[in-house]
Amino acid sequence: MTIVLASRNLHKLRELERLFDLPHIQLRSALDLEGAPDPEETGVTFAENAAIKAEALMRFTGEWALADDSGLCVDALRRPDGIEVPGVYSARYCGRHGDDGANNAKLLADLDALEAAADGAPVSRRCRFVSALALVAPDGRVFHAEGDCPGTLLRAGRGSNGFGYDPLFLPDGYDRTFAELPSEVKCTFSHRAVSARAMRRILLELFPAP
Ligand code: IMP
Repeated sequence: MTIVLASRNLHKLRELERLFDLPHIQLRSALDLEGAPDPEETGVTFAENAAIKAEALMRFTGEWALADDSGLCVDALRRPDGIEVPGVYSARYCGRHGDDGANNAKLLADLDALEAAADGAPVSRRCRFVSALALVAPDGRVFHAEGDCPGTLLRAGRGSNGFGYDPLFLPDGYDRTFAELPSEVKCTFSHRAVSARAMRRILLELFPAP
């Protein structure tokens, strides 16, 4: 049984394989598929974007396809229409894709601006990372799994491990940021660990272990 992963990131593939721990299911990266689709992520939720990516890949290969989407949701920045911020815009929050330093700086500046607008009264720094996984069957059925990891946003970054917003994120129950924790520890309780465990249950129902 093979599932194609809509990611060229081999690190992500290994991490998912380890978390699934299902020897009868092989994950294959879209890396070696020439012309694999790279659809625009037009959803306003992580689940929508994960499904867009997995559906595009399933249509391309005709095989089971899996995709993930993730980001940070900051309570104080949630829009009145309920859309989370930076949410699905996490990777491109500063206006450019993947500039972690600029994304982090914008996030801190946004919270400072909110505080200034409240005459210096502190605003909530509660936030959570969210990870959505979507699995699409060759007949078009979509299976969703989601996980989150709650925490607090610091006023300045700490640590140099990881990526993205890791230096600013202090997970609940820990005194080290995601960027200070060893990756082997982070990946036992991160948002991706939670969504992967939920997807593991779905996979086992669909494809019972021999
Ligand atoms: P993607 O789901 O790989 O596209 O990630 C979206 C963006 O969310 C990343 O570029 C990061 O900015 C942020 N993000 C998602 N997961 C993490 C994490 O575990 N640590 C830090 N940032 C993350």
